[in-house]
Amino acid sequence: MTVPPSSMGATSMRTHLCGALRSGDIGAAVTVCGWVAKRREHGEHLAFIDLRDHTGIVQCVIPGTVDVRSEYVIAVHGVVRARPDGTVNPDLPTGEVEIGDCTVTLLNSAEPPPFAVDDRVEVDEVIRLRHRYVDLRRPRMQANLRIRAKVNHALRTAMDRQGFVEVETPLLWAPTPEGAREFTVPSRLHPGSCYVLPQSPQLAKQLLMVAGVDRYYQIARCLRDEDLRADRQFEFSQLDVEASFVSQEDVFEFVSEAVLDAAEAVTGDRPGAVPRMIWAEAIDRYGTDKPDIRFGMELIDLSTVFEGTAVKAFGAPCVKAIVLEGGATLTRSKLDGLTDRAKGLGAKGLAWFRVTEPEAADGAGATGSGLALDSPLDRFLSDPERSGLLAATGAGAGDLILVVADEYRTACTVLGQLRVDVGGRPVGEGPYCYLWVVDFPMFDGVDEAGHPIAAHHPFTMPHPDDLDRLESEPAAVRSQAYDLVLNGWELGSGSVRIHRADIQSRVFAVLGVGEEEAMSRFGFLLGAFRFGAPPHAGFAVGIDRLTAIFAGEGSIREVIAFPKTQSGSDPMTGAPKPLATGLLGELGLQLIPPRD
Ligand code: ASP
Repeated sequence: MTVPPSSMGATSMRTHLCGALRSGDIGAAVTVCGWVAKRREHGEHLAFIDLRDHTGIVQCVIPGTVDVRSEYVIAVHGVVRARPDGTVNPDLPTGEVEIGDCTVTLLNSAEPPPFAVDDRVEVDEVIRLRHRYVDLRRPRMQANLRIRAKVNHALRTAMDRQGFVEVETPLLWAPTPEGAREFTVPSRLHPGSCYVLPQSPQLAKQLLMVAGVDRYYQIARCLRDEDLRADRQFEFSQLDVEASFVSQEDVFEFVSEAVLDAAEAVTGDRPGAVPRMIWAEAIDRYGTDKPDIRFGMELIDLSTVFEGTAVKAFGAPCVKAIVLEGGATLTRSKLDGLTDRAKGLGAKGLAWFRVTEPEAADGAGATGSGLALDSPLDRFLSDPERSGLLAATGAGAGDLILVVADEYRTACTVLGQLRVDVGGRPVGEGPYCYLWVVDFPMFDGVDEAGHPIAAHHPFTMPHPDDLDRLESEPAAVRSQAYDLVLNGWELGSGSVRIHRADIQSRVFAVLGVGEEEAMSRFGFLLGAFRFGAPPHAGFAVGIDRLTAIFAGEGSIREVIAFPKTQSGSDPMTGAPKPLATGLLGELGLQLIPPRD
């Protein structure tokens, strides 16, 4: 964490910040305020207090005794001096100095904290969240909150610089089209009716384009009633962006500028221009639409090697592989674990081949390349298959080849996940590799009624080259939707929107959304579009995820001041809580027993 100059914290109660004092401050008479991190007494004539504020810890030396305990809030007055020889603490940023001849003023006492305010102490998450105000005192959490503030500031500044106007949109709103389950808010003044908390400001920002705002942004809170995960909370923040008279190229430019600025603001380094990848290529090479391009291990197509094979396990439409360098040392039980994982992900099985020097592989056939394969499947391979496998994968002695034979998408997805499982690195580990994934399919799967499901949302503009296949071949239609990926996490999505009523009706028809349903759900938007909708496009960047990556955290809960637990509760406030009976009546609600 970068520490502000010590004088920046000056208030009417203190002159300096604890963690900011350095040898340049030697000789200064200072007053610092904070929490007692530690107290040590050396007889009756000398006491030491480690005093903590948000910038760190400084050692205070008191000539006498002092009656304070951990987490008491105190002000300390004294003179900064060099620590005596031999007592310099190189692990502490303030370790060259201490405050001597201190007098202590008690500002408030404190009960013993529920856990030590120390990054090195592991504490159960529920206990941390119950006492989040203590948890947030820890240096790591203080740093995370500040990284988040830096990210927000950099994003805001970048959007402002590019002529975007910050507009706040309502939290009490009507359903939006992202497809997630929404939180509803019963209305007291309209019993039986509800507001919806917005999944995103999607429709509001499109209305702002009709309203002539031209370039809108907002650091928007979005709410989705979905199961929580390491990278998902009920409420999250996004940099929400929309602009008129733009193409997707313009959006890439605006948003790249903002997220590169954010990286630079936090890390001091500006990553290079953000590369692009077509969605179909991402699936083919990485088995995912959010490829982590920090490392290789790309998927290798073996379909021609095993064309017409006699190996039953490889008789599938698609055979693909990944190579784990040095992976031949993986034990049998690890390999069994990987096989179970592959099956859990939907594959029929997983074939593995350890690549060895010929003498090491028991009875294994030499391949002509001076290498041999060690695998239960090896004896079923023909010689050309054996050498074809090695040639196609380029694997060398000591490597491990993992092969999945299945339908194309299954083979890609399973290997894509195994690639991350066995070769991946923590998401927050640099370098920071942004990637635009473009040309997403317009639809993804079908619903119970057999209608295609919008891959992004129903206001996404189809790819101009695919418009005439919209009705005849919807599965082959690409959209003008795009994602931004960072180190294998989806950072956000966006699209060019449909601004023409004729195209919108066609898309609704393909989706099976009748005119009446469209009008009842989105009538206000469609109505507005009749009054002059400019061509427009937009994007949203997930700020929690962006911050977590820069903070080196694997969970967004670590960068949110007051997150919910995995089960959606808040151990500190007790939320969610049963509604008081009186309130139910006021809202015109009656509780029925929960469904199983
Ligand atoms: N509303 C979309 C989302 O929240 C983003 C966008 O299309 O601008 O994912």
